[in-house]
Amino acid sequence: VEQTFVMVKPDGVKRGLIGPIITRFEQKGFTLAAISLRSIDRALAERHYGELKEKPFFGELVSYLTSGPVCAMIWQGEHAVENARSIIGKTNPVEATPGTIRGDFAMDIAGNIVHGSDSPSSAEREIGLFFGSGAGA
Ligand code: ATP
Repeated sequence: VEQTFVMVKPDGVKRGLIGPIITRFEQKGFTLAAISLRSIDRALAERHYGELKEKPFFGELVSYLTSGPVCAMIWQGEHAVENARSIIGKTNPVEATPGTIRGDFAMDIAGNIVHGSDSPSSAEREIGLFFGSGAGA
């Protein structure tokens, strides 16, 4: 069964959205394999978003992710990566359809409240970063 990595970002945690986000994954049919409320340091944030290092917003992104605890989760099920991206919605909340998590709960790309892996290989890498490889399997 496929697994994906999902993270409620600090603004989502502060706004009390862990519960509603978990509910949506459960309602969709996912099974929760692991969950951890934790703070992340700059080094982990920079590794997680390593592909975006050259982007002008990278500093802002790392500050955002380290501004408070995050809720890291492993969800599993059929086509877990694609199904998670579909219920999370487009990266920019302005374009995210109502009914998706970002479409319903977020206003701005710099505070889009949740992350979901964009491919099975990213999922494996991110699960390894946050949980140690093999966690939740
Ligand atoms: P995520 O990896 O968080 O699920 P994504 O894969 O949908 O998001 P990416 O293009 O990988 O989108 O961007 C990663 C994150 O960087 C976004 O979720 C957002 O928090 C931040 N980001 C992207 N573009 C911008 C921007 N123009 N300004 C500020 N932050 C941005």
